Amino acid sequence: VVANQAAVDHVSLRRRLTRAQQAADAAGVDALLITPGPDLRYLIGYDAVALERLTCLVVPTRGEPVLVLPALEVLAAQASGVEQAGVHLESWQETDDAWERVAAQIPDARVVAVADHMWAMQVLRAREVMPAVTQRAAGLVLQQLRMVKDAQEMEFLAEAGRAIDWVHGQVAALLAPGRTEREVGADIAELILAAGHSQVDFVIVASGPNGASPHHAVSDRILQRGDAIVVDIGGTMPSGYCSDCTRTYAIGDPGPQYRQMYAVLKAAQEAAVAGVSPGTRCAAIDAIARSQLAAADLGSYFIHRTGHGIGLETHEDPYIVEGNERPLEPGMAFSVEPGFYLPDRYGARIEDIVICTIDGSMVLNRQPRELVCV
Ligand code: ZN
Ligand code: ZN
Ligand code: ZN
Repeated sequence: VVANQAAVDHVSLRRRLTRAQQAADAAGVDALLITPGPDLRYLIGYDAVALERLTCLVVPTRGEPVLVLPALEVLAAQASGVEQAGVHLESWQETDDAWERVAAQIPDARVVAVADHMWAMQVLRAREVMPAVTQRAAGLVLQQLRMVKDAQEMEFLAEAGRAIDWVHGQVAALLAPGRTEREVGADIAELILAAGHSQVDFVIVASGPNGASPHHAVSDRILQRGDAIVVDIGGTMPSGYCSDCTRTYAIGDPGPQYRQMYAVLKAAQEAAVAGVSPGTRCAAIDAIARSQLAAADLGSYFIHRTGHGIGLETHEDPYIVEGNERPLEPGMAFSVEPGFYLPDRYGARIEDIVICTIDGSMVLNRQPRELVCV
């Protein structure tokens, strides 16, 4: 698996910045203040690390975006190409007050929107330096933009899907009685990197009764014959886009009751995926999976929402959950991952990433969804 190293092109970044300015204007926001995190990467392609020294992109509704950053990070920002995206650099020295620099960029601002991931201490400091300015969350402005992926983002997500599929294709060979979840998890983490991810985000190897905990990570539990094993894994590609895929395995035969329940789950997951189309409400996709499990008396064992959006973050909008009446739009990418969890016994989950397209959907994960018995 070869990772596509290509960064987002400058034309796309300039378009994102312009659209962010328009959305901010429409929301009554005078400037966006974006510290390192997914919003910063989305807007200017800069994958900066959040540190105590302030890096903050100032995007006024009218005017040029300015990246206020420590002088020692100017070269890193230039290397990532932010100036080609139309961003002016404003560096500060160790003894300068970085927040005064930010405030100086937007002297007339009345309302600013701060990045959802901005540290609380920075939000509070910004309030001190700009006491008359109202703060809002930038997610209100950027959510809609980030939620609808463009062609390049879809390809990055497809690439992430191929990479994690390659890993799942090798998981069965790692499972054997006598190995621990932790040993298997370590092997999987290596494979996630070997598949082209630049970072391992999470590895869940939930065997036997641990499978009843959806966010179990790994433990020292020893795999046994008859175990069902939920393996949910994901990483971040060099593009910044994330993978997330679950398959359920078994060592030997987990029993007729389990196999019967698994067949219901597989049908429910596939029905929910088949329900994806533009205009369908997020809640309706959740309802498809939930009603099928409920019809087989498994409804009370499906204890989480059906899915979450995915992109530069593993979990982002749109959420596929009861009550979310948002209609799906072409370009929205999200997981469809129903499961069942029986305390003290076992669990199962099947998860694929799906993109809503103009005429239906595109499923990014291709590994078979059958229970893989080794
Ligand atoms: Zn999760
Ligand atoms: Zn997921
Ligand atoms: Zn997952």
